[in-house]
Amino acid sequence: CGIIGYTGSEDVKGVLLDALELLEYRGYDSAGIAVADTGLKQTKVYKCAGRVKDLRAICESEKLITECGIGHTRWATHGGVNDTNAHPHQVGKVTLVHNGIIENYRELIADYELESVLKSETDSEVVAALLNKFYTGDPDEAIKKTVSKLKGTFALVILFEDHQGEIYSVRNVSPIVATLCKEGAMLASDLTALCRFTNRYFVVPEYHILKLAKDAIVLKDFNGNQVEPDYLEVDWEL
Ligand code: GLU
Repeated sequence: CGIIGYTGSEDVKGVLLDALELLEYRGYDSAGIAVADTGLKQTKVYKCAGRVKDLRAICESEKLITECGIGHTRWATHGGVNDTNAHPHQVGKVTLVHNGIIENYRELIADYELESVLKSETDSEVVAALLNKFYTGDPDEAIKKTVSKLKGTFALVILFEDHQGEIYSVRNVSPIVATLCKEGAMLASDLTALCRFTNRYFVVPEYHILKLAKDAIVLKDFNGNQVEPDYLEVDWEL
């Protein structure tokens, strides 16, 4: 329902939690963040059913050394409202958040024998499991292969454990906007979450792979061609 991704020099946990609060007006039932811990080279997940303030309480005392993370507020469509079904979902080296509905998730579980790795009842975790299955070190290849199997609507935002400092995103129907500004690179499901930082943004085109790094954004089509983001400006006071 709400998505944020950020990599840069600001306090990552704070940026993510503040953005999720700005997205609260859309309504949601659970919240979560994942951050790439630079020291441990691990992706850590904090999530719970409830409000962003409950999530804040969970990760308040955590000292995180990180420059990169993603966050989500969930509006449950598949699987009840509980801590396990909250996003992000982590399978192996892959951690992701998802907005939308994967219509063929049951077929995917059966066809790719994913049942044993799933912890939640969500359609979203199936995408994480599929990405992890197809992942051999190249995020773009795993994303393209996974997306070619999906039926439904999705905005996916993904961390790969061995690609520290990078955030990947791909979408169909569900929106994602992104920007590169002096504080770093960020993306969100809606502009409200970015307006604290910038008035320049672009809408990520469907079926393209977006890669955010601290000081760069790379957008590619599914043939691997780099595409120049089409920046727009909103007229508001920062
Ligand atoms: N279908 C997913 C779920 O139920 C994502 C819902 C959303 O867009 O928040 O977990």
